[in-house]
Amino acid sequence: MEKLSIQDASRRLNISQRDVREYVRTGELKAERDPNSEHGRWLVIMPEDGWEDKFKAYLDKLDASITRWWWANEAKTGYVHYLEATGIENVEPDYLCGQPSNNLWSAAGHTQDQRCLECLMKATEQGLNLFEEELPN
Ligand SMILES: [Zn+2]
Repeated sequence: MEKLSIQDASRRLNISQRDVREYVRTGELKAERDPNSEHGRWLVIMPEDGWEDKFKAYLDKLDASITRWWWANEAKTGYVHYLEATGIENVEPDYLCGQPSNNLWSAAGHTQDQRCLECLMKATEQGLNLFEEELPN
C-alpha cells in the first residue's frame, strides 16, 4: 500500500492539494497520520488504478446533477449563485447572497471557481448541501 504526502498525492492524481484534502474529508480518499512526523502530517493512501477515471466520471455526473447553482443573467457571465429553494411561486429567485435577479438560468457544467464566494460562504456556514447528491461509497 503506497502512502504519499498531500503534495505528492496531488501531483500523482493530477488534482489540486485542496481537492485532495476535500476528498480525504469526504472519505473519497483514505489518509492517515504519519507516525514519523512530529507535525502529524497526513499521508494519503493511494487508491487503486482506475480511481482517477472512475472519479472523473463521477464528477461529470455530479456536475450534471447540480441544481442548486444558477446563473443570475441570461448571458451566463460573472458568478453562479446559490438558491436554497426553487419555489415555483417565487417570481424572483432568492439567492443566498442577495444578488438581485428576475430569473434564473441553469448553471449545469459550471466550474467551482465560477461560484459566488458570498453564496458559497453562506451555504457552508448554514451547512447547506452544495450538491444534490451524496458522495457514493
Ligand atoms: Zn451569490
